[in-house]
Order: sequence, then C-alpha cells, then structure tokens
Amino acid sequence: MELIDTHAHLDFPDFEGDIEAVVRRAVASSVGRIITIGTDPESSRRAIALAERFDGVYAAVGLHPSEAQEAEGDWIGELQGLAAHPKVVAIGETGLDFHRLPSSEMAKPFRDLAAATVGGGAGEIVRRINDDDYKNRQADAFRAQLALAEDLGFNIIIHQRDAWRETLEILAPYSGKLRAVFHCFGGAADQAAELIAAGHMVSFTGIVTFRNAGPLRDTVASVPAGSFMVETDCPYLAPAPHRGKRCEPAHARITAERIAEIRNTTPDAIAKETTAAAEAFFAFRRAAAAG
Ligand SMILES: [Zn+2]
Repeated sequence: MELIDTHAHLDFPDFEGDIEAVVRRAVASSVGRIITIGTDPESSRRAIALAERFDGVYAAVGLHPSEAQEAEGDWIGELQGLAAHPKVVAIGETGLDFHRLPSSEMAKPFRDLAAATVGGGAGEIVRRINDDDYKNRQADAFRAQLALAEDLGFNIIIHQRDAWRETLEILAPYSGKLRAVFHCFGGAADQAAELIAAGHMVSFTGIVTFRNAGPLRDTVASVPAGSFMVETDCPYLAPAPHRGKRCEPAHARITAERIAEIRNTTPDAIAKETTAAAEAFFAFRRAAAAG
C-alpha cells in the first residue's frame, strides 16, 4: 500500500523537535510521500528546504488567505522564484477565508466610537469599509496565485472558509486551464459534485473519523473514485482516536481506512485510487525529470 499525505504543514514549529521521527513514522505507515504546504513566502522557503532534506517530501508554495493582509513587497515574485524548484508540485495554499472579518474583531471599538460620536450610520460605514478591504486583499492575492499557477502550468490548492460562492466566482475563468483541490473539504455532496463537474477535486482530513461528521461521511460516500485525495492538514485535525493531539502524516492511514469503511471497499483500493489521483494532480514528474 502507498498513501500520499497531500496536505501537511511540516514547517510549523510543532515538528521542529522530531521531524525525522515524524517522517519515519509516516513511511512505516505506508505514507511514502508528503506534500508540505507553504502559507507565505517564508513558510514556502522552509517547505522547500524540507523537500530537499527528505526524499518523500514535496512542497507547495503559496500565500494563505489569512496571511494576505500581512504580505508585503513582491511576494508573488518571490513565490514565482521558489516555484522553479524541482520538488515544488503545486501553487498554494490560497483561496478565501471570511470566517473572522475585521467587523467582528478589531474594528469594533472604532465602530462603537463612530456610532457614539456621529450616529449609528457611521458605524455601519466603518464596518463595511474594513470588511471590503479585507476581502479584496484576499481576493487579489488569490487571483494573483491563480494567474501564476496558470503561467507555470501548476494546479492549485484552495483553502475556503465561509466564502464558497466568492471562491467559485474567482476560480470560474480558470476552468479547463488548471485544476483546483479544495483541501480539508467539509461541504455537502452537491457542493463536491459542483466542483468535480468543473474538473476540480476535494481532499478529506481526519474529520471523517469524528463522531459528529455524519454529513461529511455522506459526501465521502458520494464522490467518484479519482476525484478525491487524502490529507492530514497536520499539525491540526488528528483523526480519532488521536483527536485533540498533534496530528502527523502517519495519521493519513487512519483517515484512508475510515474512508474505505464509508465507501464499502478496502484500504488498499482507497490507497490506489487516491495515490493515482494525487499523481495526476500534483507535478511529481518535475522532481523525477530533474533526477
Ligand atoms: Zn493548510
């Protein structure tokens, strides 16, 4: 059996102390390849360094939507430079995350102040200006990374939270030009079907093992073979029975086994299907070509 953990964050400080043991345990659990995902230029650089250090580790370079407000200077040029590395297999993660808008966070004191001094309408205006600026920065960063992926012939890894329609709108013009994987997919079967119809993919994390994930298991049961992959999103989202602890790539096997149960098939079959899907989606051939 060979599994690929298609979404890990091995560059996070959580793994600093025992990265070699983490990679070794992955290999021992049949997770022979791991894609470690950059969240900004610095994280992408660390991801590439890990890919240089470990045979089975590959990298994706990107700017996470939650980092879009912090990005400075020619960050897209930096990502473009990094993407030339032969072990880079995709652009991402990018996308939209509207879960915590400024109006629900730091803008509240200003909103209250504006409301108190010039009346309630002013508070509403301040709210909208902040949220629109925040969303626009994420959307601009997402568009820039889509253009980069198309230019360089890569597929793209998408993080989407509370921004489903907006994400699909920005992605729509790229249908047929590149493929996207909606990582840590938690949507309904009809949402997965909509993506797959447009040529895109989904990937599932350890959430499929959680007791309260019944609706997600319906989605897992519904998607056609070849349209989904397995990931950990480690250090987050450890599958049961490790829930709440640090997750690591070896846990992709537990997720694959649970997916096999849900789909009434064998872990071997799931490993074959998801590894073939990942080989078609990610640019592993670049590393092979570079020897
Ligand atoms: Zn991630």
